[in-house]
Amino acid sequence: MSSLLIANIGSLVTNDPGIGEGPLGLVRDAALVVEDGRVVWAGPGSRTPEGAARERFDAAGRAVIPGFVDSHAHLVFAGDRAPEFEARMSGRPYTAGGIRTTVAATRQATDGELDENVRRLVAEALRSGTTTIECKSGYGLTVEDEARSLRVAAGHTPEVTYLGAHVVPPEYAADPDAYVDLARGAMLDACAPHAKWIDVFCDRGAFDGDQTRAILTAGKARGLVPRVHAGQLGPGPGVAIAVELDAASADHVTHLSDADVDALASGGTVATLLPGAEFSTRSRYPDARRLIDAGATVALAADCNPGSSYTTSIPFCVALAVRDMNMTPAEAVWAATMGGARALRRADIGHLGPGARADAVLLDAPSYVHLSYRPGVPLVARVWKDGVPAA
Ligand SMILES: [Zn+2]
Repeated sequence: MSSLLIANIGSLVTNDPGIGEGPLGLVRDAALVVEDGRVVWAGPGSRTPEGAARERFDAAGRAVIPGFVDSHAHLVFAGDRAPEFEARMSGRPYTAGGIRTTVAATRQATDGELDENVRRLVAEALRSGTTTIECKSGYGLTVEDEARSLRVAAGHTPEVTYLGAHVVPPEYAADPDAYVDLARGAMLDACAPHAKWIDVFCDRGAFDGDQTRAILTAGKARGLVPRVHAGQLGPGPGVAIAVELDAASADHVTHLSDADVDALASGGTVATLLPGAEFSTRSRYPDARRLIDAGATVALAADCNPGSSYTTSIPFCVALAVRDMNMTPAEAVWAATMGGARALRRADIGHLGPGARADAVLLDAPSYVHLSYRPGVPLVARVWKDGVPAA
């Protein structure tokens, strides 16, 4: 049995209010005991239980937090869209690119090239403290390319999402409903065995409410659990459908009616905020305060994708959420850890209470507050995944 003691922790975020102070379950001068990849004890260092043959790691007064749970990412793609970003940031309209550029590049890529891209981004995310990451398809948009995208994703994470309904591909532009039939028919048949979740981009220019409901309902019948891209570009029916179908999360949720906020606050659907997308498109941020004050469960995720948010950095998103979305530093850290776990319906991650996976991050800082107080600084000093040093 492997056993690890992380001692001399200046401040420990457990996300377990039974262990420490506030919603973060904060313990100062703390210690953490790990056995076989699971947390067996967390609390004040002075009360560390006796144990034999433990490896001891000295945190030297620095902070330890749960590994980030990034519940929204699009990692299976080829190429990048830097020219499109530069044009947008230079105030020039860009018409030739967009998601179709990525779809074309992804269809032409080999399995090995797609696999290498996912490996690279998952490793990059891990270095900034992300120990669990969800991954969607959505740049293949043919039966074969969606299925292989999911097979590639499944090689890197268990949190795999079928997003055949990302956009209508160019070859179906004249008959979008025929594409909806494919996405809920033969494409779903080919993809369901490789995925846990099903997602639809419900927004203007993507899929409408009836199409979204039809695709998600078909996915549920195949055992997939829905999540929805909702309210990114404008108001729409996405949130209402997400709550109606008991989706795990409604993501983006920038444009919300009062009824949407009420539905999120009273249902079991997590509101996942993706501030990297607003940052990278110079758009208005979602109103996190309104959601939290209403009682909704809020998650933060990076939305890594080559078009609208090409970042894997959750610390960056935490800083944005605090600076520009009126979240407190504690709320933002909770949303990026426990909130992400709730959005993935996982009880074993996102916290460091007994029984949790020992996915933990050592910060080169005395407190979690430094994640937003020192934006852009690489504060992640060490990452443990299942109790093993991973980065
Ligand atoms: Zn997305």
